Amino acid sequence: MEPYRIKVVEPIPFTTRPERENALKRVAYNPFDLRADEVTIDLLSDSGTGAISAEQLAAGMNGDESYAGSRSFYRWREVVSELTGYPHILPTHQGRAAERILFSSLLKPGTSVLSNTHFDTTRANVELAGCQAHDLPCAEAKDLDSDYPFKGNIDLAALEYALENAHRSPVAAVLMTITNNGGGGQPVSMENLHQTAALCRRYDVPMILDAARFAENAWLVTRREPGYQDRTPRQVAEEAFRLTDGCIMSAKKDGIVHIGGFIGLKNPELAERCQGLLIATEGFTTYGGLAGRDLDMMARGLLEVTEPAYLAERADIAGYLAARIRDAGVDVVEPAGLHALYVNAGRLLPHIPPHQYPGTALVCELYLRGGIRSAELGSLYLGEEDEQGNPIKTAPYELVRLALPRRVYTRSHYDHVADTLAGIAKDPKSVHGYRIVGQSPILRHFSIKLEPVQSPN
Ligand SMILES: *Cc1c(COP(=O)(O)O)cnc(C)c1O
Repeated sequence: MEPYRIKVVEPIPFTTRPERENALKRVAYNPFDLRADEVTIDLLSDSGTGAISAEQLAAGMNGDESYAGSRSFYRWREVVSELTGYPHILPTHQGRAAERILFSSLLKPGTSVLSNTHFDTTRANVELAGCQAHDLPCAEAKDLDSDYPFKGNIDLAALEYALENAHRSPVAAVLMTITNNGGGGQPVSMENLHQTAALCRRYDVPMILDAARFAENAWLVTRREPGYQDRTPRQVAEEAFRLTDGCIMSAKKDGIVHIGGFIGLKNPELAERCQGLLIATEGFTTYGGLAGRDLDMMARGLLEVTEPAYLAERADIAGYLAARIRDAGVDVVEPAGLHALYVNAGRLLPHIPPHQYPGTALVCELYLRGGIRSAELGSLYLGEEDEQGNPIKTAPYELVRLALPRRVYTRSHYDHVADTLAGIAKDPKSVHGYRIVGQSPILRHFSIKLEPVQSPN
């Protein structure tokens, strides 16, 4: 059961089918443009959408808003130092600010960054620094149905090969994303992290952790990795941070706050370069774009997030929803993780070709039938077409991500999601595809405009 009870509530909007049809048409079938008060269950993102605890709220009330040297900063820094072990810690307003500051200080143009999988903003910030971002996911990640426990791992042989050939193509850093968000939210094993760290040491390349979901990764390690069953998630997380040269963190995920992030580093010269940029673009080094209350709430969230009862319930509710979806005959990416479920829309809607976006079709149908907002991760997100709209590149899989906000929805909310999906699975042929009628050149999924295709093909 949930290891908390509800003290403050927020009403959720209920809408009628005609209202949802009108809303979806108005936003040209792009759920990012829906107003939140048109959405009943919002599974668009787990980022900054969690519920804060009474202790976090109380900590926030105690925030010190001094411009420099606030008490909040020193309290927060102590918590982050104890968790991560890094001597240099810089606050930022969210994860991508940490990425931009670290990458522009660390990366030389023309080099590359190797990763298990870069998250989309992480890739964008590597490229903005004039570098190439290469993903080296392990082979097991390609099979969506396999229940291999650590599909978030990096391919160690490919990593070693790239490091060995770094004289031809220099490698500026190795970035490990835990859990692997771009790769279906799958965890990375401690063994894989240890071996990656050994390779980085051997070839003298810095290893950076993208730690947005460090606690969820640690939980899955305690459940799935031999030798870690008797450790606490907190101990596993501490070990992971200490293997690396630094981290970037989006505290909107496993900080359980609405805004916040940080950079952690071992190297003092690199930390000094980052500090200069931090002051110029985020704020002074003791607040980095955050209010004192945000720092205090993050400090508390970083302690709550590794509590076993919290993580056990988070895993349990995700497993419960996954089981109900499977029972309805719909496949999810296996094994189910914690922060999101990835529904195999391509398999559910085989009559819709990739360039008519089966993922988008399912996203729209979930909204029309159930007022549920979700995100496409398929050929709309990753594909490309020529000017006439003919496909050049399609995604390897057509997925829909149901992100699970922390401590927000209860089992009956998730029953509604499962029931809505089950209804669609009874009559998948009634769902039709979409075509693009307007898009922007970068990160197009945020601003895309679509219209329905009435008869498939
Ligand atoms: C969310 C996220 C980021 C970016 O963080 P923001 O706080 O959204 O800027 C980076 N990496 C991963 C793995 C993420 O999930």
